[in-house]
Amino acid sequence: MQKLTELYSGKAKSVYATDDPDHVIMQFRDDTSAFDGLKIVQLARKGRVNNKFNAFIMEKLSAAGIPTHFERLLSDTEVLVKKLQMIPVECVVRNIAAGSLCKRLGISEGQELTPPTLEFFLKNDALHDPMINEYHIRSFGWATDNEVTLMKDLTFRANHVFKTLFANVGILLVDYKLEFGRFHDTIMLGDEFSPDGCRLWDATTRKKLDKDRFRQDLGDVIEGYEEVAQRLGVTL
Ligand code: ADP
Ligand code: UDP
Repeated sequence: MQKLTELYSGKAKSVYATDDPDHVIMQFRDDTSAFDGLKIVQLARKGRVNNKFNAFIMEKLSAAGIPTHFERLLSDTEVLVKKLQMIPVECVVRNIAAGSLCKRLGISEGQELTPPTLEFFLKNDALHDPMINEYHIRSFGWATDNEVTLMKDLTFRANHVFKTLFANVGILLVDYKLEFGRFHDTIMLGDEFSPDGCRLWDATTRKKLDKDRFRQDLGDVIEGYEEVAQRLGVTL
């Protein structure tokens, strides 16, 4: 598979064309951003850790019958994926209250959400990823009725896979964000699942092991990611 020109570069990853129109190469960079790109730094090893972490998780999801774009790792920081037509909607599941939910609804961090809740956000940094609902998604044509149903179903099915995986290694999955896309009209999971896009707390101490370490200047950001990876048995 030949790596051709860069198609686009996001805040944390770059996407390259290949000689196969159905596949792209995603490169995980060390760039780490928060607050819609307001705070950006380079954190050594992040690209590699997230690439390996994501590959491990995508394989677990595939094994559970959840379709993903993942094909295979190409290097420490590169992965071959199916080229998707991305749906500009972030699907967020919350098992425990944290982050923007707490600010928006005045809820204290740590409240268990039973059942877990789901929120949609429009992927648009300039507008600070505003919260949207299913009607917006349909009215503005970001996805069809059927696609929305599928995204919700896959997002909640992934929650079962994730919760079991993390519970087995003493970690609470607080919340996470997924992005979906179309591959020849089939909806599948795209982008990534890594500690950049979820919240993970040690089940006993509630120590944060995810990107909140960066957002809140807690230090040892990548050490937190590596601790989760090591507990899961991800080869880094
Ligand atoms: P952001 O866009 O949030 O700054 P990234 O730095 O992670 O994010 O950039 C990755 C970009 O690649 C995102 O725009 C994402 O939607 C897109 N993307 C993820 N998976 C695929 C895929 N399989 N095919 C095409 N584009 C993808
Ligand atoms: N998230 C993400 N990308 C975004 C926004 C949120 O990966 O652009 C993740 C975030 O890491 C967390 C979950 O989605 O795990 C919920 O985020 P929240 O709405 O609380 O926003 P935050 O306060 O983290 O910006």
